[in-house]
Formats: sequence, structure tokens, C-alpha cells
Amino acid sequence: MNQKALVVLSGGQDSTTCLFWALREFDEVFALGFTYGQKHAAEVELARAICAEQNVPFEVMDVPLLGQLGRNSLTDTSLTMDENKPADAPPNTFVPGRNLFFLSIAAVYARERGIFHLVTGVGQTDFSGYPDCRDNFVKSLNVTLNLAMDEQFCIHTPLMWRDKAETWALADELGVLDLIRQRTLTCYNGVVGDGCGHCPACQLRQAGLQQYLLTKETTNK
Ligand code: ZN
Repeated sequence: MNQKALVVLSGGQDSTTCLFWALREFDEVFALGFTYGQKHAAEVELARAICAEQNVPFEVMDVPLLGQLGRNSLTDTSLTMDENKPADAPPNTFVPGRNLFFLSIAAVYARERGIFHLVTGVGQTDFSGYPDCRDNFVKSLNVTLNLAMDEQFCIHTPLMWRDKAETWALADELGVLDLIRQRTLTCYNGVVGDGCGHCPACQLRQAGLQQYLLTKETTNK
């Protein structure tokens, strides 16, 4: 079996954890990042530095059309970011089509290099209303990509059923808890590491970390 994998890497907690998961699971790992006019493109540089240390080839695709096609508060500075999810819609941090485009571009990029394992950090456990983080979407896209290119891709989603505490547990198991904690960017306000503390992404990340550390402490007693 061809043991090469391509990780869709944003520089956030989830995809960086997936990078180290892939390094454990596959012989050869590549990574692909994206810029799309997001306010906090610093995350790409964090990803680049970690890849350089791990000898993982890393390339960045620029897809600015994503910000042009639809309005969202990650690319549009005139929009105030939803701190909470509206009852009947995804929060305005939702970038419509993002995972559809990223994974499709990643598949074409991978195919060019003879890579058929794709790894993405999406998950539906801490589902914040993003439809393209759900398992049925990923499975459906996997079938579509196979049909589109007449290939046998396999999209891996190691975090699909893990909540944030379990994602921290995986980082710890992989020996990179401190690295993930200090050198990834999840915060919607662009604060690296433990973040601003109050945006939805920080709240989720911190609650998960506290929960994991508490569980670990209790287990070790
Ligand atoms: Zn934050």
C-alpha cells in the first residue's frame, strides 16, 4: 500500500494535531495550507515553521476567491464576528464552501504527487454549525472525488468523533501537547497559543484543555 499522506494544514490546533497523527501513521507526509484573505494569515507561518522542523514539505495555495464569493467575518473586516451561534443559522465565521474547495484542491494536488491519503482536522463533535465539518459531507465528497478523477482517495478524519478534550488527549499521546498549546492559532482574534480567551474558538479550546488536564490529574492520582 502506498503510505503517503497529504494533510490539509491551517496552523490551528486541530489540523496541527492531525499533522502529528499523520507522521505516526504514514511513511511520508506532505502538507498543504491555504490563504483566502483571512485576517489571521499568521497561522500559515506557524504551520510553515512546524513543517520545516518535521521535514514535511509544505506548500500554500492562494484562493482569494473564497472571500469574494461569500461574506464571512473571517475575511470581511466590516463584519462583526458572531461570538455566539445564531439559533437558526451558522455563525458568520462560516466560510461557505471552504472545506469543499480545500479538500478538492488538496485531492488534485495529491494526485499529481501520487498521494491518495488525505487528512483533515474537521470534526462534528463540537459542531458549531458548520455543515462541511460533518462526517456525511466528508464521506460524500470522498465518493465525489473518486468519481471525478477515477481514483481511490481515502479521506482520513482522525478528529471526527473527538471533542476538544479528546483532541488534547491525542496531542498528549503524540507527545506534542505543549507544542500544540504554544504554537498553534485557533483564536478568531489572532492571538497565538492560549488565545484571547473570549472568542468562541478560544472558549472551546480552553474548556477542552481544562477538562483534559483535570481528567489526567484525576487519573494519575
Ligand atoms: Zn480568541
